[in-house]
Amino acid sequence: MMYKKKNRKLSKKEQKALDKVQFFNNEVVKEKTNEIKQPVEKKIVEIPNIITVREYSAVLNLPVTKVIAELMKNGVMASINESIDFETATIIGDELGFEIKEKALYKKEIIEKGTKNNKKLKIRPPVVVVMGHVDHGKTTLLDTIRKTEVAAKESGGITQHVGAYQVNWKNKDKKTRSITFLDTPGHEAFSTMRAHGASATDIAILVVAADDGVKPQTKEAISHAKAANIPIVVAINKIDKPEADPERVKRELSDLDLIPEEWGGKTIMVPISAKNGKNINELLDIVIMVADLDEIKADYQKNADGVVIESHMQSGIGPIATLLVKNGILKTGQVVITGESYGKIRFMEDFQGRRITEAKPSQPVRIAGLHDVSNSGDIFEVVDSERTAKNRIASKIIKIKRFGLSEISEEIREGKLKELNIIIKADVQGSLEAIVNSLTSIGTNEIKVKILSASVGNISESDVNLALASKALIIGFKVATALPVKKLADEKGVKISNYDIIYNLIDDITAALEGMIEPETKEEIVGKLEVLKVFYSAKNTKIVGGKVIDGKLLSGLKVHLLHSGESNGDGKIISLKLEQNPVSEVLKGFECGVQIDSHSMLKPKDVIIAYEIIETTKKVVKK
Ligand code: GDP
Repeated sequence: MMYKKKNRKLSKKEQKALDKVQFFNNEVVKEKTNEIKQPVEKKIVEIPNIITVREYSAVLNLPVTKVIAELMKNGVMASINESIDFETATIIGDELGFEIKEKALYKKEIIEKGTKNNKKLKIRPPVVVVMGHVDHGKTTLLDTIRKTEVAAKESGGITQHVGAYQVNWKNKDKKTRSITFLDTPGHEAFSTMRAHGASATDIAILVVAADDGVKPQTKEAISHAKAANIPIVVAINKIDKPEADPERVKRELSDLDLIPEEWGGKTIMVPISAKNGKNINELLDIVIMVADLDEIKADYQKNADGVVIESHMQSGIGPIATLLVKNGILKTGQVVITGESYGKIRFMEDFQGRRITEAKPSQPVRIAGLHDVSNSGDIFEVVDSERTAKNRIASKIIKIKRFGLSEISEEIREGKLKELNIIIKADVQGSLEAIVNSLTSIGTNEIKVKILSASVGNISESDVNLALASKALIIGFKVATALPVKKLADEKGVKISNYDIIYNLIDDITAALEGMIEPETKEEIVGKLEVLKVFYSAKNTKIVGGKVIDGKLLSGLKVHLLHSGESNGDGKIISLKLEQNPVSEVLKGFECGVQIDSHSMLKPKDVIIAYEIIETTKKVVKK
């Protein structure tokens, strides 16, 4: 056995071996030092969704040639004035030592609460969407509100709907306040817009007919508003009808967690008649009040941006788009990019068809001058020139952000998402309830299952849009998915899972949740060695002789070092030798030579504890 005699002089052979080790270690040290020279922390830079190579190089503060070379390495042949998409920029940036983050076009927080400290922000009118079940009176309500205002000012009346209108409302304090209404009623339009990434609305008015009560689309509308995290004001409509039963509506809404204020809840419910105008004033007062509570604000000074509400081709004029300004003042003559189209604003009209030259935040305007029709929900922004616009549009390699299970898992693991959002469609009410009950009872401290919507019926386009807008999974139980819906889901990367056995469904979601949780790790001791002699001690490398007193030692294992029973640092076993021969493991009772990678000093009688890190997947708790 080796290393038995104390203070034995090393043989020539051993000395040679040691020199070799030392040489090898020096190389390792060199390599490590080189490694350290690499940037450890990546510099974070924010860029927009699309950026020209020139702009990108400027942001990175690198020569354009370097960026172009890196692009070429990755198979992208882009010249200085051409644009690259965010994904390409991220890959290149990563290789150049940067962490690339997407700069939001307009940061959501700008228009949300808690931004009082930003002096640039000023109150803007709230943007309201009207949702509810078919025939409950959405269109009638929008028309009534529209007429009140328009009739007071204009004769003749404007009939053309441009997707949005604004009313100037004198509230209780006789102050004139504007409210913008999206006048495409229903949650489909609303959700399509959200699916495109636009958060166009601030408040939802949920219309429920007092003679009909809560219906499937009422529930859907609630899911959509809740998913968008906007306040809901309930308008209990048709109270003029003899069979109206507003109390029943309140009861049914309470079951859906919309509890009326007078019952101690938070939801304001206004009984109205859209047809004969009863309580419409009260409803508008409430909208203003809710808007004030939410402090809906905008930055009036920056370049204008916002959302495309509607767009079509008009004979004699060309592409026309209704835009809703969110920030800044939009002016004629400016160049805008709307999704994949762009153009210089030739003229602007307000919703009543009057020519205007400027539009303020929350104001809907129709513009002419775009080269192409845009999509509803596209985000628009003003840029400095047509050239910039062209460059940005040139490389429309924008990839659709996919939200399948793996992307959701990734976001959860990174801590960006705290909930697994699920949309459930089932064939019958009984199965639906069973699934909802089982799913709400699973979860962990880190992740909760959140059911955004649960209803009976086939999977629809509206479900796909809700899933896309809210990063949710769609789960179907014994239901069908029509081909166009399947296609849409595929295109948008929305995951639809169909089941016909509840047990399998629950099992899959449980497994998905488990996969999303960071595994817990623990150390498991593999063996212990008592140091008998220290042969070599360099800064990072120690070679000792010792006896395995417990378990076994394996090369590659991590170690804790103990001196007089106290912790004395950590390290790693690089190699093991038994009787001069390299081995991969040494069992209890044997004496051996160990090369350890560690900064700590070692002395005879020290104990080396070798351990393994074991990952234990956290189990999803069934409450
Ligand atoms: P939407 O499908 O939700 O847009 O519903 P509409 O606005 O088209 O209304 C459906 C029907 O309900 C129409 O015949 C309206 O005239 C009627 N309606 C709407 N509001 C009221 C109301 O307050 N009272 C009564 N009696 N009928 C109403």
